[in-house]
Amino acid sequence: MREHLVVVGSLNMDLSITVPRLPDRGETVSGADVVRGAGGKGANQAVAAARLGARVRMVGLLGDDAFGAELRGSLVTEGIDDRAVADLPGVASGLALIVVQHDGENTITLSPGANRHLDVPAFQALTDARAVGAADTVLFQLEVPLPTVLAAARAARAAGALTVLNAAPLPGPGPASDVLADLLYEVDVLVTNESEAAGLLQLPGAPAGTAEQDWAGCAEKLRLLGPATVVITLGAAGAVAAGPGQRVVEPGFAVDAVDTVGAGDAFCAQLALALGAGRPLADALRRACAAGALAATRRGAQASLPSRAEVDALLTHPGAADA
Ligand code: ADP
Repeated sequence: MREHLVVVGSLNMDLSITVPRLPDRGETVSGADVVRGAGGKGANQAVAAARLGARVRMVGLLGDDAFGAELRGSLVTEGIDDRAVADLPGVASGLALIVVQHDGENTITLSPGANRHLDVPAFQALTDARAVGAADTVLFQLEVPLPTVLAAARAARAAGALTVLNAAPLPGPGPASDVLADLLYEVDVLVTNESEAAGLLQLPGAPAGTAEQDWAGCAEKLRLLGPATVVITLGAAGAVAAGPGQRVVEPGFAVDAVDTVGAGDAFCAQLALALGAGRPLADALRRACAAGALAATRRGAQASLPSRAEVDALLTHPGAADA
């Protein structure tokens, strides 16, 4: 049977314009034609998991606008169950305005739109706890209100699902970081990149004295905040993990990277699926690194996400990714 994954998270339309140089304040700069792509960390990870072979249900909110209809269409095209994705009347869909300089430097202006409205009552109206708990694995990010992620994680865990949190983007100091501290206790597997890991170690209650270069040691320290397993992604250098009684260092795959957008999302989806299927941590980490590396070899967010067959092929022939 195919694994069943629920993603509770964001859906955004990404509008990108490449420019010769980023505009100064008050300045207008002409750029290339606009590129439109479905995005949002929630939707990206849902699509990644579907391509990796899982049965996926998305839980989230769209606006009742043309972008919302297009975003829903992109879920359906990937075979994702969209029954727990609602359109909010009179609200705009989440939108990211991305301006990219030719050398890759960019600015992003994000309008969370409908994603901001995914509060606890809205979440409960979309899906009952049983539906979330019926999944093998539930995957969350932090682009929707944190109290909702906390409620969803509690429901998922109470029903026996594996809870996996990609702690991105990390909230600044304030009430959200207090909720995050509670959330970490409801999470079985935490995935962060280096800067998020460093940020989490600043949370109240975090152990002091982090040696930033010792990422496996950082992962071990983050386990003290609640999650049994902590994974830190290190870009081209792969990833490290700490779990009960073990540390794993995975150097990653040498590929011809052209654009790392989507790599983290592919990694998280593959890690969640592999651990949900009961694979050992080292095996799951290697699979996740293969998925991330493949996404780095192609441009775009959802456009770059690999299939299960591609991940299997890279694992079998690690030298063949650039061919
Ligand atoms: P984020 O974009 O969230 O910061 P990373 O850049 O750490 O995430 O990428 C996630 C994972 O994707 C890494 O752990 C690694 O396995 C893979 N990856 C990313 N960039 C590369 C790269 N240039 N070469 C090989 N693998 C990569």
